[in-house]
Amino acid sequence: MEKQARSSATPSPRLAPPASSLGIYVHIPFCSAICNYCNFNRGLYDEALKTRYVEALRAEIARAPHGRPDTIFFGGGTPSLLQPEEVASIVQAVRDRFDLATGAEITLETNPETVDRARLERFRAAGVNRLSFGVQSFHDDELQRLGRIHSADRARAAVREARAAGFDNVSLDLMMWLPGQSVDAWLANVDALIEADPDHASLYLLELYPNAPLKEEMARAGWSLAPDDDAAEMYLTAMDRLERAGLIQYEISNVAKPGRASRHNVKYWTDGEWLGFGCGAHSTVGLPTGASAEVGVRWKNVSGTEDYIQRVMTGEDPVSERRTLSAGERLEEALFTGLRLVEGIDLDVIARRYGVDIWARYGEALAPFVQEKWLVRDGPRLRLTRQGMLMANEVMAVFV
Ligand code: SF4
Repeated sequence: MEKQARSSATPSPRLAPPASSLGIYVHIPFCSAICNYCNFNRGLYDEALKTRYVEALRAEIARAPHGRPDTIFFGGGTPSLLQPEEVASIVQAVRDRFDLATGAEITLETNPETVDRARLERFRAAGVNRLSFGVQSFHDDELQRLGRIHSADRARAAVREARAAGFDNVSLDLMMWLPGQSVDAWLANVDALIEADPDHASLYLLELYPNAPLKEEMARAGWSLAPDDDAAEMYLTAMDRLERAGLIQYEISNVAKPGRASRHNVKYWTDGEWLGFGCGAHSTVGLPTGASAEVGVRWKNVSGTEDYIQRVMTGEDPVSERRTLSAGERLEEALFTGLRLVEGIDLDVIARRYGVDIWARYGEALAPFVQEKWLVRDGPRLRLTRQGMLMANEVMAVFV
């Protein structure tokens, strides 16, 4: 995207979670239909396989290391294809194994076509207190292009049903820079999102992986992506409009009403710890202390659903990769993810955790970005301006 003269973002309230918090991620790899751009770990819904999978999840959770989580995030796939009682049984398995914090944030990624008010009430009773709806667009033609099976009206209705079911923490995902999408069509999506009045929203750029079926359809139908200048305008204008509507940007792709930032996702951006359950799920544990050359451990479960079930149910380890993280790679990640946040990185915290003076090490290379007003040094904090967020990759390349 190109550089444009715009005002910088206003820093949001500090987001760093308490150092002892742990997140739990639960992967649900089933979908009713496969979208033509999707590269996630998912497959078509199969009732019998799903039942066995839920059983395996509970078994894996029962063997997990102890901890004190304050978030559970059901991601996928389409977690809202589970029965509410199955979600309840997984939440209970977490409670049985862990000391789940009072008031824990429990998020369910939800596709609008999978719910109605009664079903949402049952998810609420299962312990879910935050819904993240995969809306993607409020234009039916765009939804069809993406292979999504809901309509814009269904998405609007799902948000109303969520409110009626008692959810006071609702997030909507939108995808930006879709094939054939004009700036005006995108901004109409943003206005429709504001109209739906969520507590949180995520705006993602469509990323087309090399063999995505959508690529072929684009070629066949003659749909192209808007030029980079338009993409920058889409992003900057959307953020301005959302902010005027009370949805304050706190991360490159995320906005929220005060107090409604995703507590779970913030762990990924602030050196947090999380345990992932299910096929393909990642875990990272161990916090940097400034004293050690190795900082934490990361592991990943096998990706295949059947393979995962087999391993867990026969008592085998479902982990396919495990490695210790060096302080150097953890530092690099902390810088990359921290700069995604509007509040940026606290250089004093980095110095304490990693024993590195960032400004002494990278100051010379970063100075041109400060001059361009892409980067701001603000007391102990280093943060990207909103303009700088468009150039994030260039700035972050300094740390590689
Ligand atoms: S619903 Fe989500 S996870 Fe499933 S195929 Fe579509 S994009 Fe992928």
